[in-house]
Amino acid sequence: MSPTRTTLPVIAYFSMEIALEEGIPTYSGGLGVLAGDMMRSAADLGVPMVAVTLASRAGYFRQEIHDGAQVERAEHWDPALRCRRLPLKVVVRVGSRDVWLGAWQYDVPSARRAQMGVPVILLDTDLPENNEEDRTLTHWLYGGDTTYRLRQEIVLGVGGVRMLRTLGLKVQKYHLNEGHSALLTLELLRELGASEASGPLLDEAIANVRSQCVFTTHTPVEAGHDRYSYPLAEQWLGGLVDPRILRSLGGPERLNMTRLALATCGWVNGVAGRHAETSRALFPGYEVHAITNGVHAQRWTSEPFQMLYDRYIPQWLHEPELLVRALRIPQDEIVAAHAQAKNALLDSVAGLAGGSRLDPSLCTIGFARRMTDYKRPGLLFSDLERMRSIARRFPFQVIVSGKAHPHDQPGHRHIEQLHSWAGELADTIPVVFIPDYRLEVARRMVSGVDLWLNTPQPPLEASGTSGMKAALNGVPSLSVLDGWWIEGWEEGITGWAIGIDGGDHDAHRHAASLYEKLETTVLRTFYEHRPAWSMIMKSAIARNGSYFNSHRMIRRYASEAYWG
Ligand SMILES: *Cc1c(COP(=O)(O)O)cnc(C)c1O
Repeated sequence: MSPTRTTLPVIAYFSMEIALEEGIPTYSGGLGVLAGDMMRSAADLGVPMVAVTLASRAGYFRQEIHDGAQVERAEHWDPALRCRRLPLKVVVRVGSRDVWLGAWQYDVPSARRAQMGVPVILLDTDLPENNEEDRTLTHWLYGGDTTYRLRQEIVLGVGGVRMLRTLGLKVQKYHLNEGHSALLTLELLRELGASEASGPLLDEAIANVRSQCVFTTHTPVEAGHDRYSYPLAEQWLGGLVDPRILRSLGGPERLNMTRLALATCGWVNGVAGRHAETSRALFPGYEVHAITNGVHAQRWTSEPFQMLYDRYIPQWLHEPELLVRALRIPQDEIVAAHAQAKNALLDSVAGLAGGSRLDPSLCTIGFARRMTDYKRPGLLFSDLERMRSIARRFPFQVIVSGKAHPHDQPGHRHIEQLHSWAGELADTIPVVFIPDYRLEVARRMVSGVDLWLNTPQPPLEASGTSGMKAALNGVPSLSVLDGWWIEGWEEGITGWAIGIDGGDHDAHRHAASLYEKLETTVLRTFYEHRPAWSMIMKSAIARNGSYFNSHRMIRRYASEAYWG
């Protein structure tokens, strides 16, 4: 690490997953993509940060579809091909053994050449010093059982802090991206000599830790948070802190990583306004700020739109807010840029649609995200007859993508159902499933479809980010009012709402509202009012592309959470 880096105090950003680039499978979905976007913005803007994550040598998994069902394959990658090995090691107690950790450094590049990038430290236990079992601790992202996860969290939290110390970095703040890294706060307590303390001494040490730690929660349901039984935690933490302290910080009954983070972080936020409200209700007594997520403008804007923005809105890369001026871009150039992005998407799926190419003149609806119950991937397909009748008036086609966590059985069923519906609809509505949703697929989809569909069960979508990516490419959303869309929604201007805010969230009603909007408004506008449609495309860029970006997000973290 360069000398200036080591003398300036840094923000240490801890995340179980980070999406760095295509071909590095160290992420599963939104949380990791957000972390990657945030590091890119930090690099572009010169915010002194260091990210800490696991090497995840076997990746999350690569998704294949066999007979309409998800099959998971390990996605091994070799850090040596993309990162530099740092010549140091630290040791962490995991259960009854000492585990050695090595580190790789990946540099997130900055858009400004003069600017240093942001280093990402990937922790790796796959070293000859460790026994066979411990060598696999940094192999599978979100793989294995509860014990495996706990041991990984010890490596990330405790090992991560020790690695930063060994690197000689001065840390201004620790930013915990979700609760997975919350054990780092116990390591800070130990460093302060308070791992056995009680009374005022302990209180003072906790206050000290709180002044150094920032916590972003991403999970709006109590059940979504990592929890471990106290006997299990004590067994593996190897005496890191007194069990009495652990129990006083980790919540009643079980060690809850969100509770631990809330108790040890002095600044806490949710990832959208509504999500912060939900979190306050979930954890009464804590002040939960709201910093709405954003996406990295350059990373998520297709080439044709990048060229357009370069021409009409120079400086947009440095200051994505300037996209408010998108209304100045001539309509036909917006339409042409989108047609190019759409063609690129349709080319890339040509082999998947039973050999034939999808028709570029048809309205193309995109739906892609983690396949899991609360995202309700089947909502659009709740009434196939209704879909057919809409398509007879206004033909449309659908492109779908998304992985289900290997243990998420309902998620697997959603994928199977989507394939079976695609088969049933084949005669009227082309439905294509793109296997292995990942950065490249996402980029093509959010820019190449005409409409981005989002159907979560409120209030479970903490933020959601793919609709923001779509907006950067002039693609409006049709979405349930939840997460970021409550803020980004302007009816008929940036897209359309399904259902009403605070209304009945019953799936049947949402489906009815979805069909109604699609038929009477969205598709009608698409086919019969082309100038109005391209105006909506421009407004999506001007209102939402300009705002929901990670440059704004990190500026807010900097001014409120890091140096506030
Ligand atoms: C953006 C993105 C996500 C998250 O999308 P949400 O709308 O937040 O669910 C997941 N996976 C990939 C590959 C992405 O690019």
